[in-house]
Order: sequence, then structure tokens, then C-alpha cells
Amino acid sequence: MTAQSGHSPHALEALMNPRSVAVIGASEDQTKFGGRLYRMLLHHGYEGTVYPINPGRDTLFGLKTHASLQALPAAPDMVVLALPRDKVKDQIAAAAERGAKGGIIITAKFSDAGPEGAAIEREIVEIARAKGMRLIGPNCLGLISAANRVVLCSSPVLERKPLPLSPIGLVSQSGALMATLFDRAWDRGIGFTHGVSVGNQADIELCDVVDYLIADPRTRVICTYIEGIKDAERFVRTARKARAAGKPWLAVKAGRTEAGSKAAFSHTASIAGSHDVLAAVCRDEGVTLLDDPNAMILLAAELARVGERPVRRIGIFTTSGGGGALAADAVSAHGLELARFTATTEAAFADWYSPGQAQNPVDVGGRKSEAKADLARATVAALLDDANTDGLLLPITTAPDVPGLCAQIADGVQGERGGKPAFVVMEPGKAGDGGRAKLVEGGVTYTDTLGEAVEALTAWATRAPAADAAQAPARPGDIPGQAPAAAATLNESDSKALLAQYGVPVGADLTAASVEQAVQHARSLGYPVVMKIVSPDVVHKSDAGGVRLDIQDDEAVAAAWRRIHDDVRKAVPQARIDGISIQNQARGKLELIVGARRDPQFGPVVVVGAGGILVELLPTPLILRAPAAPEAVKRLLQTLPVWPILAGYRGTPLAVDAVVDAIVRASWLAADLGSQDFEFDINPLIVAADRCVAVDARIRIGNTEETSA
Ligand code: ADP
Ligand code: MG
Repeated sequence: MTAQSGHSPHALEALMNPRSVAVIGASEDQTKFGGRLYRMLLHHGYEGTVYPINPGRDTLFGLKTHASLQALPAAPDMVVLALPRDKVKDQIAAAAERGAKGGIIITAKFSDAGPEGAAIEREIVEIARAKGMRLIGPNCLGLISAANRVVLCSSPVLERKPLPLSPIGLVSQSGALMATLFDRAWDRGIGFTHGVSVGNQADIELCDVVDYLIADPRTRVICTYIEGIKDAERFVRTARKARAAGKPWLAVKAGRTEAGSKAAFSHTASIAGSHDVLAAVCRDEGVTLLDDPNAMILLAAELARVGERPVRRIGIFTTSGGGGALAADAVSAHGLELARFTATTEAAFADWYSPGQAQNPVDVGGRKSEAKADLARATVAALLDDANTDGLLLPITTAPDVPGLCAQIADGVQGERGGKPAFVVMEPGKAGDGGRAKLVEGGVTYTDTLGEAVEALTAWATRAPAADAAQAPARPGDIPGQAPAAAATLNESDSKALLAQYGVPVGADLTAASVEQAVQHARSLGYPVVMKIVSPDVVHKSDAGGVRLDIQDDEAVAAAWRRIHDDVRKAVPQARIDGISIQNQARGKLELIVGARRDPQFGPVVVVGAGGILVELLPTPLILRAPAAPEAVKRLLQTLPVWPILAGYRGTPLAVDAVVDAIVRASWLAADLGSQDFEFDINPLIVAADRCVAVDARIRIGNTEETSA
């Protein structure tokens, strides 16, 4: 399926591993992009042919220059340029004409600067694509490939050499961040096979490069920095491909806080913004999302070193009680477990350590005076061998002979056979530098902050076990073929009627135009009843005093009738009142919200969370793409904070299967509405031991005039 070396080359091969590169604007001037780029390419020992292009010079750094692309003796595989914006189009046209297979446009101020730049950018891509030339950028920092010894990037980070090489690939939408991560990782002995800054992604986008990394036999783990997804379906397909190839894909995504704030109509939009939807897609497709790019690199390095394996029970090795205590707190706070060592490990530690220092966390400062000289190495090795320990956290504080200690840690980590992750945290400042050097020398990476290590460990622990094959869920046979297409904002009663067509259980609901009719309806439904305002101008009915519960008899109906009218008129003076809805009062132990909306990128999604008054208090909804499969719904319900209530914690279990079925059916409505903008809320779905019922709902289909209250 994927191109291995020796088989048919990957579509990006000529760009990622060019046999020749033309540098337009090459010079000796190190204040210019072209000058720096040209020198960096030579500096890192590129083995292909370099064509410096500069009409004003005969040679540059000893290489013959050429006056123009047209003057080249052969077509270059790759062309790089950092010219001013208005010169880019002509040069790309010339390169495409000359037969270049790829180009990197460093220059900025294209689509990143507005519609005018975007138009030029589109034109440039068309010109190149017409001749089969592919483009990276514009507005990017280029390419750094240690694996292919191709450096087409001007960053001063690249003054050092040689480039370290770890089996990690990096694709970044930010060039500066890529260079920064290279630099930081480098200090810790971590390198990359290939790093690509994709900039505006005018042609080649992040997923194209991820696809190359999936096919690249030297890359085992893929790191990405994402600002926006260009093609959601492509993203999902690429994630599945990475998973099938057994290559972990890690991602940091910017824009977490721009969560949708369209709270006016439904709660769904306010509790599940677009970042949450992406996070849900990543969870389902096995892409691990992290907040901190350095934690991502750290995780990648350990994943590359020891391979995929489950991580939950953590052993802590430290040099001080304080370091150990803080690490133990952080481990527990993030839902990881402190390992309980096996009897074998405990017996060994009892020999080496004074009582109390031999439990998790193990403090190497608590050694017996007669303990062996290589105690740190032996302890780390014993911890990694321990059958009850999945991984190690090693917070190192200032201590005597940190370099010696770190050399032993590196030995212990490298010598172990089980292939378990070990995250060393170098907490001292300069006093730790000797130790840092020893770790890197010993092939063991580190971080300076506990937070980074714990984030990496936590992300590892939550990595989904390898794929349940993504299967399209089956449409229940008893639901209609097609949802209504007309744009509309449906009131409670019409919303429930539409949900009922999809088989979502809804409560009976009769609208009364007069108090007499209200009493009649209440009698026919049977007491107790609930009464609610029916008005297109009142969206949040109870906020306006429009809901009365627990109505037990005819008098109470009459009283509620008056109260509702009075209260609603006070709250929303101009409200049109279409009557009062009389409903059976549902009884249950839990209220859920089941919502749905169309995500602009990933299409229809369902959102489930604690409902009623808990909606805003427990903002950890679960999100699934619609339509959803019952198994997926059930699995995710178990991650909700209210799951223990559903499962019958201290009482009877609730009707979980009925809830799953209602959510699946709601997801099919969402899927059917999904070609247009829409949102809906069932809030609440009241859940009892033997059933669940939707007692309130609202649905908006298409862009209709917003009602408000
Ligand atoms: P809104 O959300 O517009 O304020 P709801 O119809 O959701 O109004 O009513 C508010 C609350 O009243 C619900 O969250 C639920 O707790 C309760 N409620 C509403 N209808 C019923 C009903 N038929 N049976 C039992 N409780 C109900
Ligand atoms: Mg409600």
C-alpha cells in the first residue's frame, strides 16, 4: 500500500529527496534569506547538484552560478526561493517551464495577508500544477531533512552540525515553531528524519507530508503542529493510514480557546466548540493530541525508542523526598497510577535502602551506607524489570555528583530489556548541565519540567489501543428515509415530533388555548402534569418563568395557567403566546443533554453530557461523529462523569441500552440534517431505571431568523 524505498516512489519523493536543487537569489550575503539558505544547504553536506542562481556572480562559495533558471544545464528537481512577493509568480512559471518537479516558496504575504494575496497564491499554484510541479508554502520556513541530508531552510538554528537523526518526522504549520522545536530537541539528543514547514499549504498540505512520513521507512513516529485542518476527510483517511502502518501520530493543535460561543439557541454549540470536535475525531482515529509541543517531542522520542505499549502504572525514581512527592502528586492528579512493586523488587530494595525509602517513589538519597556503588543504575534497572511497573518518571533535583548519577540512569534505562518508557526530569538549572550531557551521551532524553514529562506520560496512557476497524454504522430500519430539508426553527412540540419519527422516545404533549382546555388535557393525560409556555419568542422557557412542574389537580392547573402568563409577560413583554403545553410528568434519576450540530469541518456530530441544570457545571461532553454506532456510544458514555449514576452506583442501574438507542437515533437525524447548517438539543433526556424520555427539545434547520429570550 505505501511506497517503500525500492518500490514506486512517493509522490513527494522529488521534493523531499531531490537530486538537484536550484537556489534562486543565492548569494554570500548572510543578511538575506537566499544567502543563508544557500549556505545552509552546503553547510549540511547536501550530496546532490546545487545550482546557485544569481545573474551578477560567476561563482558563489566555489560553485558555478547560473544567470537564470532557463540557463540551467538540466531541469532541477527542486527550486527554492525567498524573493519579494511580486517576483514569485514569474520565477515559479519559469521553474515549471524548465521542468522543475517541486518548489519551496519562503516568501510571505499571500493568502496569509488577505484576499489579494490569496488570489495570486491560487494563480501560482495553477501555473505550477499545470506543468506537474508541486509547491511547499508560501509563507514557510522550508524543509530540514536529516535523513536525506537536504536542508532548505535559513534558520540560524542550523548553524550547528551534524543534524541529529531520530526516527521522528515533523510537519508544522508554523515555520518558527519547527525551527524552535528542532533546536530544543537537539539539546536533548533528539533529531528528526524530516521536518517540513508547510506554511499556507497552498498546494502541499500537512496530510501530504504525513503521508510521505507514513511511507518513509526511517520514520517511526509522526509529530505535527496544526493550526487549521484543510480537508477533514483527508485528515481522517490519513490518520487511518498512519494507524494501519503502526506509526503513532501526535499533534498539537492551536486554537483551543476559540470554542463556539453561539449559546443563544442551543447548549450544544456552547459546550462543544470546533476544537472539541477535532479532539473527538483525533481520539477516535488514534491521533494523540497534546497541549505542549515539547511534551509532544518528548513523547515521540520515547515512543520511537520503546515502541507502542500500554502505560498506566508509574514507578518514580528520585533524588529527594520533595521531588518524589511532587511527581507522585502529578501522576495521581492525571489519572495515572503509582505502581506497587512486586515482592522481588521490594526485597532487593530492602537490602539497598533504609526502611521507608524503598517504596514508590524511591529516593536514591535514602540508601544504606553500605549500598553498592552503582545503586542508581541497579535501582532503575530493577524498576524497569518490575512486572507491576509500566513506565518510569525520574525527577532529578540537585544532588551530589549529578553527572555520575545521570550516567548510571542512562545505563539503567538503556540496559533494560522490557522496552518501557522512562522520562527523566532535570529540575536543577546550570547545576544539572553535566547530568544533561551524560544523559544525551547515554542515548537517553530528558525534559527540564515535570509538567512536560507528565503530559507526555498522560498522553501515552490515553493512547487508544490499536484500531477497532472503523465500520459504518447500520441505519435502523424503522426510521424515515430523509429528514425535512426546509429551513425552520421548530418549537418544542414540533421538535419532539421529528425526534419521535426517528424513534427517540418523547413525552406526550398537548397544547391548550384556554384554561378550560388545559384542565381537560391534564385530566386526559392523568396527573401529575407539567405546564409550559408555547411561544416563538421564548427559547429558554424556565428562565422566563414559563415552566411549572408537579401540577396535581384542576385548581393547580388554573393557578399555573395564570402564573405562567404573568411571569412570561414580565420577563419577555413582547412575547407572542401560542398557548400552554400540558405534558405528563416524567420521573427519572438523571437528566442528560443529547445535542447535535453541523461542524463546519467534520460535518454532523452528536454531543452528550449531563443535562438539566448540570449542563454548564460539567462541561465535559462527549462528541461523536454522526451517525454513531451503538458500541461507540456505549463506550463513550462510560467516560462521562455521570456514568456511575447510569451504571447504578448506590442504587438500581438506569436504562443504559435505551439511552444508547436514543442517542444512536438522534445521531441518524443529525446525519440526515448534516448537509445543511443545523443544531438541536434534547434537554433533558430524563433517564429512569426502565426507560428514557425526551421532555424538551429544539431544532434549528438551516439559517433561519434567530428567536431569543
Ligand atoms: P427550558 O429548557 O426551555 O427551560 P424545559 O422544558 O427543559 O424548559 O423544562 C425545564 C426543566 O423542567 C427540565 O430541565 C426538566 O427538569 C423539567 N421538565 C420539563 N418537562 C418535564 C416533563 N415533562 N417531565 C418532567 N420534568 C420536566
Ligand atoms: Mg430544556
